This record gives sequence, C-alpha cells and structure tokens, in this order.
Amino acid sequence: MRLLMVEDEQRLAQVVAAGLAAEGYAVDLAHDGPTGLSMARSGDYDAVILDIMLPGMNGYQVCAALREAGVETPILMLTAKDGEYDEAEGLDTGADDYLTKPFSFVVLQARIRAMLRRGRSARPSVWRFGDLAVDPATRTCRRGDKALDLTSKEFSVLEYLASRAGEVVSKSEILEHVWDFAYDGDVNIVEVYISNLRRKIDAPYGKAAITTVRGAGYRLAADGG
Ligand code: CA
Repeated sequence: MRLLMVEDEQRLAQVVAAGLAAEGYAVDLAHDGPTGLSMARSGDYDAVILDIMLPGMNGYQVCAALREAGVETPILMLTAKDGEYDEAEGLDTGADDYLTKPFSFVVLQARIRAMLRRGRSARPSVWRFGDLAVDPATRTCRRGDKALDLTSKEFSVLEYLASRAGEVVSKSEILEHVWDFAYDGDVNIVEVYISNLRRKIDAPYGKAAITTVRGAGYRLAADGG
C-alpha cells in the first residue's frame, strides 16, 4: 500500500511516515498544498493523509481539486482541534474520513486500514475510455482533467453508449433506453443529442469517440476516440 502524507509540520510528518513505513506502507511526503495535489494526481496512491492548514493551498482546496480531477483515492483529513475548521466541510469537499489533531498513531493506523478496506468495495466504478471518463454514480463526465458540462439527457445518451462501448447501437435503442415511454416524437431527436455530445466531448479535444455507422447507428470507441 502506497500512501501520500501532505503535512507542513515536517517533524510530525516524518514521525508519522516513519511509523507507517515500519508497518509496511510506502509513504511519500509533501509539505505544501500544490505539491501534494500534483503528487496525489499521479493516481498511484492507495490513500492520502491530508492536513488542512497547508501553505499554498489548504487541504479543502486540495481535496476538492482532486475530486474535481476525478481522482478517487481515499482521503483522510487531519483537522485542527480548535474547531476553526469544520469536519463536515472536509467531508463535503470529498474527504472519506477525518482525524482530529493531536491523534494517536494507533488510531491513525486504524483509520487508514478502515479507509483502505472501504475504498475497495464502496467506490462507484467509473467507466474509462482512453481519457474519457464517465461516472454513472455522480452523472459526471470528463476528458482528462476537464469536467464536461452535459445536460442530464446528453449524459443519459452518453451513458447508454458507454454501457455498450465498442458495439453499434441503433437510434431506436438509444431512444428506448433514454427517453421515457411518453415520448412519441421523431427518432431523429437522437441525432441532435449525438451532435451535442460530439461538440462537447470530442470536437474540442480533436477526438472522435462517437462514430456514425451508416444505416445502423452509433458506436462509442472503447479507447475514447
Ligand atoms: Ca498544517
């Protein structure tokens, strides 16, 4: 298990890192917000321990930026005891758990273990097609780092294509799965949504994730185009 600890109190960070290393974790340290963010975004960590008061960017901002970038690594926030910072706010920005300073090393270890266990099972799966990520749980979509602004219906069309990535999907199949039973309009409405999706997920990135299969329908490329 590889951990990242983002903590500007260097002595505390080193003591904790040494303790975790002794327990068999690989631990990297960052001492300011921007460095922590950039390391955490590498995506190679199983969990991040994130202090709130940090130079450059605070822990809330780092946490929110990571979630915004689609990084789902479990995050344990270290909160100040004085209550100046709100635990609820930490959880709202996407932290998985929090621990109030000063903490005992045994409790820290237990929290990390629990978080790693939960992290395996509870996280929603995100479909990835190259750098195109589609998250059915949050109904969000991104190209690399960029969050894409889709309407609910556009997302539903993309989600259906994504659920069958690599296959040819007909307009009527899309219509059946995305529009409700009450819709009795033209099947060509699907073309409008496909065109919007291409304008949002493909064109700005020089990609062609959604291809037209003449006379048959559309296909979402498994590699994201
Ligand atoms: Ca601090």
